Amino acid sequence: MKKILPLLFLFLFACQSTNVILTPTPAFTTTSTLTQTPSPQPTFTNIASPLGTPTPLARRVLILSIDGLRPDAISLAPMPTLMKLMESSAYSLNAKTIRLSATLPAHASMLTGMCLDKHGVDWNDYIPENGFALGTDIFDLAHAAGMQTAMFVGKEKLRQVTEPASTDVYQFINDRDLIVTENLIQNFPTDFRLLFIHFATTDDMGHVYGWLSGEQLSVIYRADQAIEKILAELDARGIRNETLIIITADHGGLGNSHTSGYPEDMTIPWIASGAGIQPKQLISKINTVDTAATAAYALNLPIPSEWDGVPVYEAFGLPIQQESKACE
Ligand SMILES: [Zn+2]
Repeated sequence: MKKILPLLFLFLFACQSTNVILTPTPAFTTTSTLTQTPSPQPTFTNIASPLGTPTPLARRVLILSIDGLRPDAISLAPMPTLMKLMESSAYSLNAKTIRLSATLPAHASMLTGMCLDKHGVDWNDYIPENGFALGTDIFDLAHAAGMQTAMFVGKEKLRQVTEPASTDVYQFINDRDLIVTENLIQNFPTDFRLLFIHFATTDDMGHVYGWLSGEQLSVIYRADQAIEKILAELDARGIRNETLIIITADHGGLGNSHTSGYPEDMTIPWIASGAGIQPKQLISKINTVDTAATAAYALNLPIPSEWDGVPVYEAFGLPIQQESKACE
């Protein structure tokens, strides 16, 4: 398998869509880490293919971040589609984000698997001259392995979570969650192996009207309708069962903001369903950095030793092996 990977990578590279930005991947990402860093890999002996090659738990991973979604808003809004999905999910309504619970730093931790001191994203605006999150993120890992990666985001600053060279498809849609979803469906990245979707509206309404306000809850209900459309699209394409879906948030909120360090700011939902998942309410202490590690684990990608996050093994029916450190 290792021998054909470079060829596969070249082939995929040559076949990429017009959305691809054909610039070299920065040296601090991907390849060197892949070759130099032994990963704390779980064993796959019980699911090995007939040829003995480890089989990924999931062919595809979809991560949906609902910006500013407090776990208690799920039942208050309500979110009937997500609540139904939770019945077949491994989930925690007590996961934590990083202490600097602002959108860009927190998403950087979610998707790099690292606390802020390593990824370095300590700003929360779109500031292109600041560059990108440091280190190897989940997009770098997947892309270097020849997997199609895609981002559909509602805030432009999320471009700074990963280098353009690591996302085959990138769309910034400055609109409501349902419009983001329409764009996704109309431009569906058929061969995606890693898809990140970001809904911005819950956070926007929280800042204007307050967290858990009627206005915010109404757009959370709309986000749930968008989730229904995404699931229906996966079903229609026959890829739902091969996809690990993680639905989470970058932070919660209290009053009109979310950066004061209150539990309401830092507590987030973490809901995993689909490929490889054993449904249960999780007792693991989950931090947002575990999201990238869980995605890497499910795709059978080597987890960089620099990552603070660890896979949520419990979600796959395995014993809790190690908890990630809480990011200060
Ligand atoms: Zn946010």
